[in-house]
Amino acid sequence: MSPRHLLPLIALLSMIGCSRNTAAPVTKTPDNSSPPVAIRLIGPDGKPGPVVQSPRVVKTDAEWEKQLGTEAYRVLRAKGTEAPFCGNLLDNHKQGVYFCAGCDLPLFSSGSKFHSGTGWPSFYQPYAKENIAEIRDSTHGMIRTEILCTRCGGHLGHVFNDGPAPTGLRYCLNSVSLIFRDEAEVKKTGSAAAR
Ligand SMILES: [Zn+2]
Repeated sequence: MSPRHLLPLIALLSMIGCSRNTAAPVTKTPDNSSPPVAIRLIGPDGKPGPVVQSPRVVKTDAEWEKQLGTEAYRVLRAKGTEAPFCGNLLDNHKQGVYFCAGCDLPLFSSGSKFHSGTGWPSFYQPYAKENIAEIRDSTHGMIRTEILCTRCGGHLGHVFNDGPAPTGLRYCLNSVSLIFRDEAEVKKTGSAAAR
């Protein structure tokens, strides 16, 4: 095979690997007038607290990019997907809580994390159902359910119906959408760290 014929193969392999892709530009006018959202923060006992009303976290694309950095911005704000088996939280087995990398909302707890074999961190239920929003995603020739952070609208991943008991759901996450804090850190900061 001549080098010319290898070029498409090399291009394909570079797409599969853990490369850092450039974020696609997204233009959306922030709307500070939208109504507050109902969420649950971490209660004093470490369990989900009562439902509270919270203002949405709204920032411009430039502000998000500055806060998140290129890769997290590409996933959270431009609906990108990190390469499988590359995320830093895939094999994290510590006890604690996974927070939104955009706004620090508690999204998943270590107790519902399971090994799915997909290459992405997987959970069978969210920390609180209020904290995850779902929308229909018909991109890439598939019908899927996209999951978003309720408070900042950040793209987290997708939810599928092939998960384990007790829910039968598989929340498929991008590591870069999440910030993990272990139990001691959660006890110390609770939801006080929320942006
Ligand atoms: Zn968020």
